[in-house]
Amino acid sequence: MNATKVELPGISFENWRPALAPILESTSQPGYRATQVLEWVFQRQAADFESMNNVPRVLREELSEVTTLHPLTLDQDQVSSDGTRKFLWRREQGDSIESVMIPEGTRRTFCISTQAGCPVRCTFCATGYGGFTGQLSPAEIVDQVLQTTLESEVPPTNLVFMGMGEPLLNFDAVLQSIAVLSHPKQVALSPRRITVSTVGIPSRIIELAHAFPRVKLALSLHAVRDDLRDEIIPLNQKHPLKELLAAAAEHQRTTGKYVTFEYVVLPDVNDSPQDARELGRLLSDIPSRINLIGFNPFPEAPYQRPKVQRLTDFRTAIQEHFEGPVTIRRSRGEDIQGACGQLSLSHGNSSS
Ligand code: SAH
Ligand code: SF4
Repeated sequence: MNATKVELPGISFENWRPALAPILESTSQPGYRATQVLEWVFQRQAADFESMNNVPRVLREELSEVTTLHPLTLDQDQVSSDGTRKFLWRREQGDSIESVMIPEGTRRTFCISTQAGCPVRCTFCATGYGGFTGQLSPAEIVDQVLQTTLESEVPPTNLVFMGMGEPLLNFDAVLQSIAVLSHPKQVALSPRRITVSTVGIPSRIIELAHAFPRVKLALSLHAVRDDLRDEIIPLNQKHPLKELLAAAAEHQRTTGKYVTFEYVVLPDVNDSPQDARELGRLLSDIPSRINLIGFNPFPEAPYQRPKVQRLTDFRTAIQEHFEGPVTIRRSRGEDIQGACGQLSLSHGNSSS
């Protein structure tokens, strides 16, 4: 049965040999075969066991009996007019998730999901409206990277945990996937090129800083007052702004890295000049950058897309108190619903 199969992409380097030992033993294979299989899975992105052509047939057959090489199945691959590609994957449980590949000059950023849907239900996010159907396993997180590489024929230069789901609500799986993705003998992506985006759980932000001090933190702030943040990000009711900012400051001190604060600009909701000045003031003591994201509309959302002028005015007002960089994120992949906040279970499931 699938449920008892070992998912190969989720196994850490340290556990690889112990996990494969019984399989090698039952097929009378020497220990070095474990390394060959490891290379096929993580470095050569084998599409199937068949293609592992230096691995004896008996071992390939046993592996396909008792392990899973790719827990995700590609259902749809859409290409945007700007080159962004969105992949819709079906899970073994039958629900779907999405990953996005964003090419920009020599960079290829992979944006991956950590949950099927999202239980946080932010009022401005299509993923939140689509509901929540489950936690991804470490293997399902890593497999998005392996198969996106396979499909697009290029490995990522950067990886962002900004697809569906709240990474810190699937924390153990996210930590395990970062271990595999960054291990030099596995996916070998430098942790400096990995960013975890979160609406914020203070204790886990601090744990992340200690576990992976080179991984970057992006904190989705979106409001400068608890009353508004409680409303648009329900999780704020449990972890108010003051605790969140203290955790962000501690992350910064522990890692020595700038924190990126993300702010989705919702016209007439969180974009008054007063909001901007307060934002600048709140963050002025934390070495950080602010990334403004114009709200990307979707049918259920009660908000408008901001005009460019509004974004630039908001930036100018922030800069009265804030000296770090303030950037405005360019929207990518919108025509295929691949832009920030447009990934949705309902889109995924209805189109499959
Ligand atoms: N759950 C995590 C990561 C996934 S969302 C988080 O919220 O940080 C990734 C980013 O997309 C977040 O900054 C989020 O606020 C932003 N986003 C969500 N919905 C959006 C929308 N409709 N328009 C623009 N950005 C959006
Ligand atoms: Fe979940 Fe992030 Fe969307 Fe909020 S913005 S619903 S936390 S994915």
